[in-house]
Amino acid sequence: MASYQKLTAPKEGSKIKVLGPNKFEVPNDPIIPFIEGDGIGADLTRAMHIVINAAVKKAYDGKRKINWFEVYAGEKAVEKYGEGQYLPEDTITAFKEYSVSIKGPLTTPVGGGFRSLNVTIRQVMDLFACVRPVKYYKGIPSPVKHPEKVDMIIFRENTEDIYAGVEFMSGSEEAKKLRNFLIGLDPKIKEKIREDAAIGIKPMGPFASKRLIRKSIQYALDNNKSSVTLVHKGNIMKYTEGAFKDWGYELAKAEFGDRLIPEAEVTGSTNKIIIKDRIADSMFQQALLRPDEYSVLALPNLNGDYMSDALAAQVGGLGMAPGANMSDTIAVFEATHGSAPKYTNQDKANPGSLILSAVMMLIHMGWKEAADLVEKGINKTIEQKYVTYDLARQMEGATEVKCSQFAERIAQNM
Ligand code: NAD
Repeated sequence: MASYQKLTAPKEGSKIKVLGPNKFEVPNDPIIPFIEGDGIGADLTRAMHIVINAAVKKAYDGKRKINWFEVYAGEKAVEKYGEGQYLPEDTITAFKEYSVSIKGPLTTPVGGGFRSLNVTIRQVMDLFACVRPVKYYKGIPSPVKHPEKVDMIIFRENTEDIYAGVEFMSGSEEAKKLRNFLIGLDPKIKEKIREDAAIGIKPMGPFASKRLIRKSIQYALDNNKSSVTLVHKGNIMKYTEGAFKDWGYELAKAEFGDRLIPEAEVTGSTNKIIIKDRIADSMFQQALLRPDEYSVLALPNLNGDYMSDALAAQVGGLGMAPGANMSDTIAVFEATHGSAPKYTNQDKANPGSLILSAVMMLIHMGWKEAADLVEKGINKTIEQKYVTYDLARQMEGATEVKCSQFAERIAQNM
């Protein structure tokens, strides 16, 4: 049992046991840590608890129950732990100890020494995959003609690429030194990098790329998906993005053998999972023009960032976009939007994104019956046009309701 400075775990409930990479034993009474979050986080978390508790109760007739365990980050952590304590060690300990947890949005502290709390959470636990399912809920306003054709899940690499944070400012000593060093390796670099250039580094290797692609393929196999697409800019960046693609095909062949088939080898209909690749710019077009030809996408960090927001917009925006950051042993589910501070404690914001993140969490735990009930409740509530302000203002004939009313109606509609 881990020791905490200021937390007491619930007396009731048990731990999800990690048996090995991606192997878990989930008890009927799991303890699940949650961070309420800043801004609209408190309203959203309350709404999420209403819906998830009702779904679990209904699906398993009271035989299963989640024991929620509040842990702290953001402004509430500072209140409890003191100045500057935006992400106490207790919280990370709990996330590791219980394996599955969920968080509301966190405001990035100004001058707190953090690039972002969310980034820090990912880094300290090496949550290497950012997973975002994107699908359409009937009735949600969308900018495209056939949003229902989108049903994809994005696996974005979280630890490498130009996002690694290795950058040197224009005019800095470091940038000059680095430029000179590079010119020493290849004199042609003198023309490629101007003297006043800032320089960012793009590290990408087989270890991080393969563990991300492996996770995406495993997901496709476990969930009967039709294809895995490696999205890259390998036509231009051959040794990083091009290699990402090559490592992907290599891994598929070496570790998954004949359960996958490369697109180029498909002759007729196949019951194998098709593995293919697309250049990132073409993938953005395909997502709009032929979205139904794509299912699981595996992407490096930057492409993944762009693609997840673009696809979320296609099905109606961030209000309904769930996500998770995971390793092979720890998963943190989270709403993908921020803390929208202007709506704090107004019981107004859309809890859809956090509720759908909890649906992902239920699926991860193998509690599919409860996950299906929540989806049913959401579908029906949106069809009834009983929605929060952000959706109501774009839907004809909608009834605008509060965050809590939306959640209660979802629970009734299950
Ligand atoms: P934001 O996502 O918080 O809000 C932008 C706008 O989107 C809001 O003003 C609101 O109109 C709308 N919106 C967002 N979520 C909504 C919801 N659930 N229902 C209805 N409308 C919603 O982005 P921001 O204003 O740029 O960021 C605010 C803070 O959140 C910043 O400190 C930022 O760093 C942080 N942030 C956190 C996360 C996270 O925790 N994962 C993600 C992004 C931003």
